[in-house]
Amino acid sequence: MIDTLPIRIQATAASRLTELDPAHIEFGKMFSDHMLVVDYHDGAWQEPHILPYGDMAVSPANSALHYGQAIFEGLKAYHQADGSVAIFRPLDNLHRLNASAARMCMPALPEEIFMQGLRELIKLDAAWVPDAAGAALYIRPFMFATDGFIGVRPSDSYRFIIFTCPVGVYYTKPLRVRFEQHFVRSAEGGTGYAKAAGNYGGAMYPSKLAQEEGYHQLLWTDASAHEYIEESGTMNVMFVLDGCLITPALSSSILDGITRRSVLQLAHDMGMPVEERRVSSHEIVAALQAGTLEEAFGVGTAATIATIATVGHDGRDYDLPTPAADAFSRRVSQALEAIRTGSSPDAHGWMVAV
Ligand SMILES: *Cc1c(COP(=O)(O)O)cnc(C)c1O
Repeated sequence: MIDTLPIRIQATAASRLTELDPAHIEFGKMFSDHMLVVDYHDGAWQEPHILPYGDMAVSPANSALHYGQAIFEGLKAYHQADGSVAIFRPLDNLHRLNASAARMCMPALPEEIFMQGLRELIKLDAAWVPDAAGAALYIRPFMFATDGFIGVRPSDSYRFIIFTCPVGVYYTKPLRVRFEQHFVRSAEGGTGYAKAAGNYGGAMYPSKLAQEEGYHQLLWTDASAHEYIEESGTMNVMFVLDGCLITPALSSSILDGITRRSVLQLAHDMGMPVEERRVSSHEIVAALQAGTLEEAFGVGTAATIATIATVGHDGRDYDLPTPAADAFSRRVSQALEAIRTGSSPDAHGWMVAV
């Protein structure tokens, strides 16, 4: 790609990098020095600029605040074995951002703004990419409505921002999850497949109830029968049953995770049988009772591959065995980490150098 897009850069005079303690990174609390900001108005994306991370002024009447016209993405950049920095599958995130934008009546973001903006931003804040095992630079692109108008209609103006934060391991302990059979995250025909802000606000209350019962996350089930598994928090979910990798098939109520796609591809490469289909809570509970469920884990950018140790259903908890060293989830997690850090060949062209 030719670097032709002008990006105005206003670098910080006071880097906060010395405040970062690489041994104690908490997810999402500390932000790198700079952010990329691009405004959309009069039917066009304006000149992108990079400026110090900080507060900004917006109209209190913007329809992101009132009606939820807001979407986001999440991806990571990794410190490479050769000392450089590379981003994992960024174009997949752009395509999903634009699918979310279409669902929310927001303008598509051009590839050159996203890719060049991302590269410039990460080059400038490269010193913020942590190099410890399992650590990375989490990248948060997002877009929201900015019209100062309170009527219920799509905004004419928007702002797109990317900021980043260094992150360590997300879940440090194996997860306790339980089936949710009353509340709903999303329904067929709704916005569940989009990374739309409102999906997450609506999921907080049921998640909070489960956390008060000692679970980390919910296993969402479908909105009509409350039986078919959808996903878990901000992760897609996978099971190993009889040596086969099983995951719920995508639908309009399930987020099409890029980690999910990557794990399915690596499973295929490893010769592991894969089934993408409907998975009922009854099938999983029966396998838990019979002791035939070999593995259960969540897959997502923030958590990467998170082992599920306990599944709650109808007031009963079922424990899974600790995955052995050669368990699929451990092997695929290592294979993914090796590609992301440049220590094994990138056969699928997933890494983009900055
Ligand atoms: C982001 C997200 C995922 C995981 O997607 P990745 O692209 O793998 O990070 C899964 N479920 C939901 C609801 C999400 O928001």
